[in-house]
Amino acid sequence: MANTAILDLVDKGVMLPLMEEFYTIQGEGYHKGAAAYFIRVGGCDVGCHWCDVKESWDAERHPPTPIHRIVENADKYSKTIVVTGGEPLTWDMKPLTTALKERGMQTHIETSGAYPLTGTWDWICLSPKKNKLPVGDIHQKAHELKVIAYYTHDFQFSEEHAAQVCEEC
Ligand code: SF4
Repeated sequence: MANTAILDLVDKGVMLPLMEEFYTIQGEGYHKGAAAYFIRVGGCDVGCHWCDVKESWDAERHPPTPIHRIVENADKYSKTIVVTGGEPLTWDMKPLTTALKERGMQTHIETSGAYPLTGTWDWICLSPKKNKLPVGDIHQKAHELKVIAYYTHDFQFSEEHAAQVCEEC
């Protein structure tokens, strides 16, 4: 990222380090099979060793992109938007989701919950990681839980988080 003015805009969520954006079919979870426009935001310090998008980790590798440009692109393809990463909650998601909602879009997020929840979401897929546990009350706000089972004891980890998500079910 080039200069402090741009860094400031990224800090405010007015620009985001955009890794990629694409129109596809949701392949996982409750909305599996639904067409959606994916916005993959760069930046993640959670450090899962099995991560399949390690190229997302370093935000500086991804161009700071004005959110109005992201929203305009998205609007050409779908009214269902999935924001993923990286860890999108590294950044303030309020400006992006406000702009998406102004266009009548459904906003979905895939997050580890490692940072405070920002933005307005119609669907929250919480994917907690042992390296950096979710913060705040995101378990109560999540609509869906996704846990990667790599080791046998990951099943216990998933049950612990499922119990928190379902406390009020
Ligand atoms: S939280 Fe997601 S993007 Fe970050 S390291 Fe883990 S799997 Fe990769």
